[in-house]
Amino acid sequence: MSTLFVRTLREDPADAEVASHKLLVRGGYVRRVAPGIYSWLPLGLKVLARIERVIREEMDRAGSQEVHFPALLPREPYEATGRWEDYGPTLFKLRDRKDADYLLAPTHEEMFALLVKDLYSSYRDLPLSLYQIQTKYRDEARPRAGVIRGREFVMKDAYSFDIDEAGLDASYNAMREAYQRIFDRLGLPYVICSAVSGAMGGSRSEEFLFPCEIGEDTFVLSEGGYAANAEAVTTPPPAEADPSCVGEPFTVRTPGASTIEALVRDVNAAAPREDRPWRAQDTLKNVVVVAVQPDGAREVFVVGLPGDREVDLRRVEAALAPAEVDLAGPEDLAAYPELVPGYIGPQVLGPQSSRRDDRPRYLLDPRIARGSRWVTGANQADTHVVDLVYGRDFEADGTIEAAEIRDGDQAPDGSGPLRLARGVEIGHIFQLGRKYAQALGLTVLDRDGRSVVVTMGSYGIGVTRVLAALAEANHDDRGLAWPVGIAPADVHILATGRDDAVFDAAGRIARDAEAAGVDVLYDDRRKVSAGVKFADYELLGMPWGVVVGRGLAEGRVEIRNRRTGERTDVPVEQAPARLRSLIADE
Ligand code: ATP
Ligand code: MG
Repeated sequence: MSTLFVRTLREDPADAEVASHKLLVRGGYVRRVAPGIYSWLPLGLKVLARIERVIREEMDRAGSQEVHFPALLPREPYEATGRWEDYGPTLFKLRDRKDADYLLAPTHEEMFALLVKDLYSSYRDLPLSLYQIQTKYRDEARPRAGVIRGREFVMKDAYSFDIDEAGLDASYNAMREAYQRIFDRLGLPYVICSAVSGAMGGSRSEEFLFPCEIGEDTFVLSEGGYAANAEAVTTPPPAEADPSCVGEPFTVRTPGASTIEALVRDVNAAAPREDRPWRAQDTLKNVVVVAVQPDGAREVFVVGLPGDREVDLRRVEAALAPAEVDLAGPEDLAAYPELVPGYIGPQVLGPQSSRRDDRPRYLLDPRIARGSRWVTGANQADTHVVDLVYGRDFEADGTIEAAEIRDGDQAPDGSGPLRLARGVEIGHIFQLGRKYAQALGLTVLDRDGRSVVVTMGSYGIGVTRVLAALAEANHDDRGLAWPVGIAPADVHILATGRDDAVFDAAGRIARDAEAAGVDVLYDDRRKVSAGVKFADYELLGMPWGVVVGRGLAEGRVEIRNRRTGERTDVPVEQAPARLRSLIADE
């Protein structure tokens, strides 16, 4: 500790909200350079190397071979696949002195496909799996939580190359198993979530999520084993309703009904239903949103959904990828004076409305069944319309999964009610198919000498994000508490007091433990108080501690378990062997 390049901090950094971010900075693992950009200090690099080692071992075991690409890449391959544009403002672009365009790679599909195209030409060369552990760049809109969402970060990315679907399935499953082994070995809890909506079918895609309150991803689980990212959950369409007994629509005055509850109350008073009272889910809420394409083109459209649910913009965005989606602002609405905020109804929307060609598209959440009757806006202030029937009185341009998923909703595969949770995406496996290979001309000759396009998979792990996730999973209010194998060292030895005897004994334990294969961090600082040493021990988070101090007079030292707080006195000469066996047991 007297020479280690580290300065621990007692105060949380001002920009840190989550525990892992605070503790990694306070413990001197990382230092911020700019938003989402961090330097790695000795302790941080040690942990990173340990995580990378587990990843390498399991990737190698799964038959993938390590390569390494540059991060600085020319524009042309990304132009060929459309990603130069499609990646939008998240792509870091730059120019060289000759005015040629370059980018800092956000992932490397193009480069792997081109390398394989360069060197391979026959079905006999396949299957092939390649990976790298490499720095990626993304100009994230909202860098967050330290290295959890950085603009520069380390990713393990792997790519598989196969001649046919069966091959791709096998490669995909091999990676899926490798990922399970990796996260099992790291001791990081995870849930494998489907990342594509069942309706899209075809290519598989799954995310490995570390369940955690601070996560940005919402996922759902059912008792029957369904697990999906909230964006991927599809809504089974409800049965068509029979509107034959529903009378013509009519308007009611609803001044001041600015909330759904107030609207339901007013409508029940003014226009009671014959069978039961109106409920919030009988109101049709129309939300104006704007989709911004990667090239900056803006499209305003209207989403209709039951009034008891919020619109989930991430689900809308997933349906409209690669566009970014937001609620429309006043400047977007200005072009459509027929849309009266708070009173928007589908009568002026949809293909039947005979409005001009540039009318906004009208998309309905699948929960809106054909033939169902609704209370909705009448497109004039303080007025709603009752008994408006979908398919009779209004139409839509299509459907979109727009409504939030809620606890208790039914799983689309019939496996029971859903439970919502939050998580951090630590890995993603994805059957790319032939899109990239097609765009880049990656073909091989098959058995019959015919040229076929190769089918690819892509598989990512956020290495630096995994480190933060491990910190998130292994800490308490005083500091980090790493598991053995991940921690920068196995044991933190504290020499407390002023006597040379203490430092002699502590130094001997450190040397003997190292000789026995134990990684040691030895706090040999002479002028530092015991209190500061204990605080550093707790902050830095080595799994085991050895306190050499008062007990030494009786020939004893104390071994502490950082994670459980358990303390045991052992004879000083037995300490190294004891440490070795405790660590071996883990
Ligand atoms: P997210 O949805 O969190 O933005 P993504 O789906 O865009 O991630 P992928 O393209 O699937 O990310 O990248 C593979 C892995 O790289 C992710 O599963 C994640 O663990 C990691 N990763 C992605 N973006 C970042 C980032 N900005 N900082 C740190 N790790 C990241
Ligand atoms: Mg992903």
